[in-house]
Amino acid sequence: MRHRIAVVGCGPAGLTFARVLYRHGHPVTLFERDPARDARPPGGTLDLHEGLGQRALDKAGLLAGFQALARPEGQALRILDPDGTVLRDWQPRPDERANPEIDRGQLRDLLLGPLDVKWGRAVTQVLPGTPDGVLVRFADGRAETFDLVVGADGAWSRTRPAVSPATPHYTGITSVETSLDDVDTRHPELARLIGAGSVGVYGVNRSLVAQRNSGGHVKVYARFRAPLDWHTGLDLADVEAVRSHLLALFPGWAAPVLDLLRHGGAFVHRPLYVLPVGHTWPHVPGVTLLGDAAHLMPPLGVGANLAMLEGAELAESVAAADPADLDEVVRAFEEQMCARAGGWARITAAGLDRLVSPDPAEALAVFDQVQPT
Ligand SMILES: Cc1cc2nc3c(=O)[nH]c(=O)nc-3n(C[C@H](O)[C@H](O)[C@H](O)COP(=O)(O)OP(=O)(O)OC[C@H]3O[C@@H](n4cnc5c(N)ncnc54)[C@H](O)[C@@H]3O)c2cc1C
Repeated sequence: MRHRIAVVGCGPAGLTFARVLYRHGHPVTLFERDPARDARPPGGTLDLHEGLGQRALDKAGLLAGFQALARPEGQALRILDPDGTVLRDWQPRPDERANPEIDRGQLRDLLLGPLDVKWGRAVTQVLPGTPDGVLVRFADGRAETFDLVVGADGAWSRTRPAVSPATPHYTGITSVETSLDDVDTRHPELARLIGAGSVGVYGVNRSLVAQRNSGGHVKVYARFRAPLDWHTGLDLADVEAVRSHLLALFPGWAAPVLDLLRHGGAFVHRPLYVLPVGHTWPHVPGVTLLGDAAHLMPPLGVGANLAMLEGAELAESVAAADPADLDEVVRAFEEQMCARAGGWARITAAGLDRLVSPDPAEALAVFDQVQPT
């Protein structure tokens, strides 16, 4: 007898879970709030680590597909002083494959492949313990029941309340994102500054990071410590007003660095929220969480990697389980996942404090610790 399994959310966690189960011949029902695959811009670039995201793709039979799309040269990283002095300039060896970059949209399409997604199905509530299983309610008024509901619905998960009262809290650090197109043709100076990968500039409690995506697209992140309401009186849709405001937050920074903001298009405000470090919950039969829904962390290059590996590992365990043991398998998975994620949550919490810090030398220390030689 097959389990009736629902996945809420088609981000890296939910898609990897569904794709690995698909490989094992187990169908799942995938619900996604977005009305269609390309309903919104897919976001920036992700570096997938050899032992995490790449391992998950291997379990899904997609490692070769990833390698064909990935940008190993995107691992290059340069650190500058606010005055434009180059402090570190790390270039990957030609055979370096530890953390190649891939556009989120490319990764999503690779994982989606043959999967059938129910688009435009926003989940509003997950109710375990009903006589027919776990009840899932949708914004369109419909409801369905399943044996297992996997909440992979990100930071503001609607599945999480079924197992845990935890909610994300603001870190005190916010991020304003902008982007540049055709950077090599339209902004050759900036293209040289950014190089093939990323450039990070760290000042007192502020940073500017620019990351190359494929096709000459660049995402720029301005990060700073501020109360959540820092933009009171500022119309965030007014591109020029936001630009002036941001430029004033980086006084004295070198002109070529500030050009990253001067040439950016629309600005998107993304305050950084996290779940409590070590978030865990008493096991609830029939419901579990993956990825950001379980352990939202600062964006320091592991969230999607962990989300994917968790999805792949849970799928393998479920595929191998006797139907009668499904609950035990999920319980054991949760214990292992929460322990591992707790370790990463501690590391990333400390990392964020050092990257947006009163002492810019801290950022260099982080770089020197993590960069391969
Ligand atoms: C700027 C930035 C850069 C980052 N860079 C990296 C990186 O380089 N490497 C890395 O590993 N991580 C990175 N991260 C972290 C990474 O983006 C997340 O950890 C990862 O996307 C989590 O995947 P997920 O599948 O758990 O959740 P999400 O990616 O948030 O996906 C959740 C999905 O659920 C859907 N959904 C939400 N609510 C509902 C609902 N009620 N009903 C149905 N569907 C719903 C959403 O539409 C979405 O498709 C970065 C994050 C940021 C902000």
